[in-house]
This record gives sequence, C-alpha cells and structure tokens, in this order.
Amino acid sequence: MTILDPLAAPLFADVAGDIDVSFEFFPPKTEKMEETLWESIETLSPLGPRFVSVTYGAGGSTRERTHNTVARIARETGIPAAAHLTCVEATKEEIDQVAQEYWEAGVRHIVALRGDPPRAGEKYSTHPGGYENAADLVAGLRKLHPFEISVAAYPECHPDSPNPSADIENLKRKMDAGATRAITQFFFEPETFFRFRDDAAKAGIDAEIVPGIMPVMNFASVQRMSAMCGTDVPAWMGRLFEGLDAHPAARQLVAATLAAELSRKLYAGGVRQFHFYTLNRAELSYAICHLLGVRPKVGAEVVAA
Ligand SMILES: Cc1cc2nc3c(=O)[nH]c(=O)nc-3n(C[C@H](O)[C@H](O)[C@H](O)COP(=O)(O)OP(=O)(O)OC[C@H]3O[C@@H](n4cnc5c(N)ncnc54)[C@H](O)[C@@H]3O)c2cc1C
Repeated sequence: MTILDPLAAPLFADVAGDIDVSFEFFPPKTEKMEETLWESIETLSPLGPRFVSVTYGAGGSTRERTHNTVARIARETGIPAAAHLTCVEATKEEIDQVAQEYWEAGVRHIVALRGDPPRAGEKYSTHPGGYENAADLVAGLRKLHPFEISVAAYPECHPDSPNPSADIENLKRKMDAGATRAITQFFFEPETFFRFRDDAAKAGIDAEIVPGIMPVMNFASVQRMSAMCGTDVPAWMGRLFEGLDAHPAARQLVAATLAAELSRKLYAGGVRQFHFYTLNRAELSYAICHLLGVRPKVGAEVVAA
C-alpha cells in the first residue's frame, strides 16, 4: 500500500445505502419540544426507518408522555413504533398493564430494559413484586403477547457488571428469554463494537446486534453521559471539539463527520443495521444516513398532516 492509496478512494462515494436504520426519540416535555419532535419525525420518516423508538423516563416518570408519543406515531405514521419500558419502581402487574395498553394501541415492539435507580448514585434494587431485571421483563412480555422485543447491550460493559463476560452472559439470558435483537449503548471506536460482536458470537448469541450511534450535539454533555455509563471518550475527540462551543454550525459538521465515519467503518466490517440516538433533532441523523447512501424512499410514509 502506498501513502497515496487513501486518496484514491473517495470517502462516502457510491456508498450503497443497503442498510436498515432506526431512530430513537425521547418524549417531549413542552409544546415547543413536541413541535420539534414531530418536525424531526417528519424529516426522517421518508428515509423509511425500520422502526422508531421512544424512551421511558427514570422511574416511569414519562409513562403518559411515552405512551402518547408512541401511540401517536403508531396512529399517524406508517412507521412501526417501539416503546421503551423499564422495571423501575413498578410491580409486574403495573408493567404488564402498560404493555397491554401498548398492544391495544397497535404497538407491537417493546425495548425492554431494567432501567437505572431513580436516585443517581444509588445501587439498583428490584421493586417488591417487580421484574428483577431486563431478562425477567422479556420473559414476562413474552407471556403477554407476541411482541417484537429489543434489549440493551454494552460493548464497554455495563457499570453494574462484575466483568465483560458476566455482561455477555446477561445479554445471552435476555436473548434466551425471547428478545429479538440487541441495541448497543453508544461508543466511539469501531473496534469496540467488533470486539463485542465477536465475544457475543463466541457466547452463542446469534441475534442481530445493532450499534447505537450517538451524534455529538454537545460535547460536555456527552462526556457526562459517557462517564456515567462507562463509555470511553477518546482524547482525539476532545481535541476535535475544542474551541467549537460558540460555533454550533461548525460543531454540527464535525459531529456529522465523526458519526458518519464511525458508521462507514462499521459498514466496512459488515454492519447493515444502525440505530441513531437523535435527541429529537433530525438534521445530524439525516446527514449521516445520507452519507451512508440512504435516500428518501418513494412511497415511504410521511407523518399525516
Ligand atoms: C438502547 C438502549 C436504550 C435505553 N433506553 C432507556 C430508557 O428508555 N429508559 C431508561 O431509563 N434507561 C434506558 N437505557 C439505560 C438502561 O436502563 C440502563 O443502562 C440500565 O442500567 C440497565 O438496563 P438493562 O436493560 O441493560 O439491564 P439488565 O440487562 O437487566 O442488567 C444490567 C446489568 O445489571 C446486572 N444484572 C442484571 N441482572 C443480574 C443478575 N440476575 N445477577 C447479577 N447481575 C445482574 C448485569 O451486570 C447487567 O449487565 C437504555 C440503554 C440502551 C443501551
């Protein structure tokens, strides 16, 4: 290989776009946020996502809002909607009731999670009468209805896990309980994902593992989130975002470039499914999908007026 070889391969030229994408949103708190969310869904829906998902706030704090958002997506768009659901501070009966309401609203996909302790820094403890963890929740949902079920996976190991192999065993338990696929926590180096995918395959996990891609909108908040969930933020990323606080447009361009480059490397390693943490903003995810060759699909459903 000569030093000129990279120049001979234009980045992102003729990327096939033969990928499946999904988008994650959070339930809006205010009318203004609700507007932004629907604009984002409207922008992203022509890309034909295989599903969009809506998160569930700590301790069920967004129960109503998550339900309303997911039900509205199911009602007004042709996009399959997935509802996140956690075990935190609720009995099995209460959680089953929420899942039942989803089923009745036409929602067929649940992202089943244990959730985090309601007060940051505390150790997680199971609610009396509640589901013990995500694997237990998956088994409970399976008994209720034939939901499609996604679960969480941690390429850099969940902070509560004693070691990476225990974490993989935990993922295997979730799959064996009936999960359809795993979606990963965000990460910034492609090797992190490839290593994890290999380890999961060695443990006999043959279900889809979809990388969760986090475009960096605000570097300081990504650093904070990463510290909490054990995601490594490479030093070179810090240097790239240095000096951009007062330059939001430049920051967006840098963020899109980084996330697209990570996705391109994952694609080169055989990944064909991508899940984007949109933070309810469409532009970055749209740009990244575009760079990966995804174009609006003729006839793709758009949000009803
Ligand atoms: C794609 C994705 C979406 C998410 N969406 C949300 C959301 O909408 N709302 C929200 O509040 N949080 C969300 N989270 C965060 C998630 O709730 C936290 O990471 C939580 O701490 C773990 O949830 P889990 O489902 O991975 O738990 P689990 O898989 O149940 O377990 C997490 C860890 O706990 C330990 N553990 C579990 N069971 C046992 C056991 N029996 N014995 C020993 N150790 C055990 C293991 O170390 C395991 O790695 C999301 C995370 C991801 C990756």
